[in-house]
Amino acid sequence: MSEDTIFGKIIRGELPADIVYEDDQCMAFRDMYPAAPTHILVIPRKPIPRLCDATAEDQALLGHLMLTANKIAEQEGMGDKFRLVINNGEGAGQSVFHLHLHIIGGRPLKWPPG
Ligand code: AMP
Repeated sequence: MSEDTIFGKIIRGELPADIVYEDDQCMAFRDMYPAAPTHILVIPRKPIPRLCDATAEDQALLGHLMLTANKIAEQEGMGDKFRLVINNGEGAGQSVFHLHLHIIGGRPLKWPPG
């Protein structure tokens, strides 16, 4: 169950995290193993395991997560130079099954990603 993931524990305050933003719908904290100088995860409070598990009911929430990422990128001084990543499913590199957006920046970013 998604509530039992590491991120569920962070939401419930059972695990510490370096929180940079929170509101009634989501929270954001620094990735423990950063892939870039700035690497922040934005997660919904609602336990949606993967993006493909989201439904039409989650439309506003998904938009809120992206706009929150914008706000955090600005707050972190990344300007317009950042990338949002959602790994969907184990085959695509997802390791924590509570939906999260990676905000990555602070260095030049190559394309395509690995
Ligand atoms: P993903 O592989 O897309 O599921 O991303 C999971 C991310 O969570 C990885 O980038 C991990 O480094 C990060 N991570 C795992 N455990 C923690 C934790 N306790 N606090 C912060 N980030 C974590």
